[in-house]
Amino acid sequence: MSTIAIIGAGPAGLSAAAELLQHKVAVDIYERDNTVGGLAKTIDVLGDRVEMGPHFFSADFNPGLKKNISEFLKDDVFVFDRLTRICLDNGLSLKYPPQISDILKNMSFTEMVKASFSYLAAMLGKKNETDFESYMKSKIGGFMYEKFFMDYSKKLWNIDGSNLSPQFGISLIGFGDLNFVSIIKKLFVGNKSARLTKYIYPKKGFSELWNKYSEMIQSNGGNIYLNAALKKFDLDGKKINGIILDDGTVKKYDLVLSTIPDPAILALTGEFPDTLKESMKKIHFRNVIFVYMQMDELLHVADQNIYVYNKNIKAVRLTNFNSFRNKTGKETLMIEYWTDEQEPIWQSSDEEICSIAKSDMAKIFPGEKLIYNRFAVKKIPRAYRAPDVNLEHVNNSFIAFLNEYSGLLRFGRSSQVNFNYGMEDALNEGIKVAKKIIAMLEQHASE
Ligand SMILES: Cc1cc2nc3c(=O)[nH]c(=O)nc-3n(C[C@H](O)[C@H](O)[C@H](O)COP(=O)(O)OP(=O)(O)OC[C@H]3O[C@@H](n4cnc5c(N)ncnc54)[C@H](O)[C@@H]3O)c2cc1C
Repeated sequence: MSTIAIIGAGPAGLSAAAELLQHKVAVDIYERDNTVGGLAKTIDVLGDRVEMGPHFFSADFNPGLKKNISEFLKDDVFVFDRLTRICLDNGLSLKYPPQISDILKNMSFTEMVKASFSYLAAMLGKKNETDFESYMKSKIGGFMYEKFFMDYSKKLWNIDGSNLSPQFGISLIGFGDLNFVSIIKKLFVGNKSARLTKYIYPKKGFSELWNKYSEMIQSNGGNIYLNAALKKFDLDGKKINGIILDDGTVKKYDLVLSTIPDPAILALTGEFPDTLKESMKKIHFRNVIFVYMQMDELLHVADQNIYVYNKNIKAVRLTNFNSFRNKTGKETLMIEYWTDEQEPIWQSSDEEICSIAKSDMAKIFPGEKLIYNRFAVKKIPRAYRAPDVNLEHVNNSFIAFLNEYSGLLRFGRSSQVNFNYGMEDALNEGIKVAKKIIAMLEQHASE
């Protein structure tokens, strides 16, 4: 019987382990943290249970995922319609997915004419899609790019559109050669089925789901080692035979699956090729600051999220956790900042950050009476790798380096250059990876 080690008990690792164990493949999971769930775990803040980001699921899972989720959560979920808005420069907001009438209301006749001409120019001109800006301009025209995406993408990444990867554009507006009408529909109008889609949120938060995964993994014979400290891979040349723990214990495995960040994998190999080290240093990380706020007076924010495109507001997104939970009473809101290590806000005290949050809230809700009860600040260093033109190159170099090793498979969020890779993607990828391994083992057994 094969034995597999999985490093990391986030959604990807848990999902792969559950699938492997259901097919009688033995699995041990090593998790550095004292709990499972990775970045998608529920945390205690201000006496409430909330997420590190607006995590939720669409109820249209792929069938493989649906089986586990329905079994684990049963009816213990809130079902809601997605209500998300975009807050624009002029204070107006678009519904997401908004009606075409909202967009038209937002654009003057002159702007519509300009948008049409710039789109036509893009369609007739030479295609150059080497970066985010040129990709977007060629898909929707310069006018629409500048009006809706230029400032927001700069706010997210602190990088000009001409230095961001076209992949970022693809993850925003989808793959393939879409025509203008379908892009505009996708961006702004949505489609009927999207509007009909229901969303779910576990009544006790997402950690409830991760705990159920853990129980199922352990009841099927899998082991989950929390607070795990890994020292190195157990290597025979470039063949990975297992892992060596910090206390020197050697654990042998047929295959090691890793969902941890690349520098951590590199440390386990014990090899640091200079060229790779240098190119990894060029990765532009964005830190994230979450400011959780409890309000004394209800704001009645019906939306789950407000994306703050307005360039005069530093915050990028607002989340109202009550609207996931059909909860009335004291609202727990969360306002989000994406920042470089050197930016003043990252260096600021919690009190200073709260003042910035209050000032931004006043701009998002002008004229509203905002009475705060209390605040909490949570900082996540190196939360996102900016999708700049360099990232794919670094990722490919890392893949080439790992390809020299056998016995290791890397997957999950850290292996992806798509910044939009979310919890549901991680769960789906876990199943996919497990299925591939199961098929390989079955083929091996039949030979
Ligand atoms: C700020 C932020 C907000 C987000 N908001 C959303 C959202 O609203 N919706 C959404 O769908 N997705 C969101 N995501 C993304 C989502 O959380 C991830 O895609 C998902 O958690 C990925 O799962 P994973 O298992 O691949 O990785 P992770 O969740 O990162 O899990 C990796 C695990 O590996 C462990 N680990 C790391 N190093 C080691 C080591 N050396 N040894 C052992 N264990 C180790 C970590 O502790 C962690 O538990 C957000 C991400 C961030 C950073």
